[in-house]
Amino acid sequence: ARVVDEMVEAIPDENLFSYYVGGGRSSYHPKMMLKVILYGYSQKVYSCRGIEKLTTESIPAMWLSAMQQPDFRTINEFRGGRMKDFMDELFETMIHKLIEENYITFENYFLDGTKIEANANKYSFVWKRATSNFEEKLKEKIKETLQHIHELIQSEAQPADQEQEITGQELVEVAEKLEEKVEALTEVIDSETDKDVRKEKRQERSQLKKSIKQIREDFIPRLTKYKEQNEIFGDRNSYSKTDKDATFMRMKEDHMKNGQLKPGYNVQIGTEKQFILNYSIHQRPTDTRCFIPHMEKLARSSLPMPKVVSADAGYGSEENYLYAVGEEREQRFEFLIPYGSYVKEQTRKYKKDIKNAKNWTYVEKDDCFICPNGMKVTFKKYLNKKNQSGFEQSFKIYECEDCTDCPLKAQCTKAKGNRQVHWNTIFEEMKAKAKAALECEEKAAIYAQRKVEVESVFGHIKGNRSFRRFSLRGLDKVHVEFGIVALAHNMLKVAGIRQLLSEKNRKTQ
Ligand code: SF4
Repeated sequence: ARVVDEMVEAIPDENLFSYYVGGGRSSYHPKMMLKVILYGYSQKVYSCRGIEKLTTESIPAMWLSAMQQPDFRTINEFRGGRMKDFMDELFETMIHKLIEENYITFENYFLDGTKIEANANKYSFVWKRATSNFEEKLKEKIKETLQHIHELIQSEAQPADQEQEITGQELVEVAEKLEEKVEALTEVIDSETDKDVRKEKRQERSQLKKSIKQIREDFIPRLTKYKEQNEIFGDRNSYSKTDKDATFMRMKEDHMKNGQLKPGYNVQIGTEKQFILNYSIHQRPTDTRCFIPHMEKLARSSLPMPKVVSADAGYGSEENYLYAVGEEREQRFEFLIPYGSYVKEQTRKYKKDIKNAKNWTYVEKDDCFICPNGMKVTFKKYLNKKNQSGFEQSFKIYECEDCTDCPLKAQCTKAKGNRQVHWNTIFEEMKAKAKAALECEEKAAIYAQRKVEVESVFGHIKGNRSFRRFSLRGLDKVHVEFGIVALAHNMLKVAGIRQLLSEKNRKTQ
């Protein structure tokens, strides 16, 4: 409680008051609210009702709240509403204080991610593929219906264009035109005396009415629904109806042991000496594409850039390496990030495998490889390919002169023609750089710290402090909530270090 008090008191008042508009009933002091919330989170109390209870039952919480007892609604409003505005600023202030007090130095930055379940029902999924299939079928049905109407009333409605996609607005216009047609038919029926003609017109009107009903009550609402769903998806494959920002991901915690996907968020943190230095919340399940947004968030903040960034092989992509190296090769930070095949490449089997072009001799002067059969594998062309994130990779395509009658062909390739080698020069260069860094003894010692550094923080948060599910919904609120968890974690760390030091001092006296 004393650490919470000290840390919160270090925030200048004006930083917090600038977010209050003034007027209205006098509010609780934001520092007091912050203190009780942070204290609650440090005591594994994550619900507002629980925090409210603490202010009446726990002596440290009563001391922090100066005997005031904010209602759980007030606490919730402060946590989910007000804190959204100043969470990042608050977090940075705390980190600056930790730097000042020499708890952290930003020399090393250990990055990793974990998935935390969202506050959403696990059966509330909406899948992008299912939506696309339904949408396609609906559009087909709309085209058929429009074609039918067109035939029925001879060119009053738009003929179904196979190429053009019909929008909701166009359907409304079609329905309005049809209603006019129905009115005209009613007038004809009323004025008509011939029984047979009346019967025919009535049938025509009834069919049109049916189509109008279908357009208004089925087509338009469903088209609007699919449009909304596609907007929510963005570049994701799924979302939850309960928390639309949550994406379905495979979690490590799988109590049912059935590999069920659950709605959640990917939380990325950077640590040093087990303090959380920076965090970011992502909607993508894979770590690779979270690296740049995470580091960009750090670059935008007032915090310093670390000297060395260590992360596991999940982050080792060409795009990420190039980001670390910086534009025009002005290194942003040193990186200790292995690539996917780094461990495999160390094995004897890999080094002896004849199909790996890396094990072949490269002749720089002719820009060609010499394959195990002694054939020249020469450069043919360049090929640019875009990966999933839209990043363009450039490959050099080499092709063997002649693979026919090669006794090693079965081991070398499955291709029917000559063996081709797709060589990504930039990525290979980056991989060589990463490998050299990881093989340096001094840096390997830093990398070896990664597991102790960052994995244990997740273990502490999820295992010891049982924070396995968010209480708030929506990306912004989840960002605030994890910020509180991270701050509480850092404060507990400070309290732990201080306690250790005081015990040490007591023993030496
Ligand atoms: S299959 Fe072609 S590339 Fe492979 S070893 Fe034989 S000749 Fe060389």
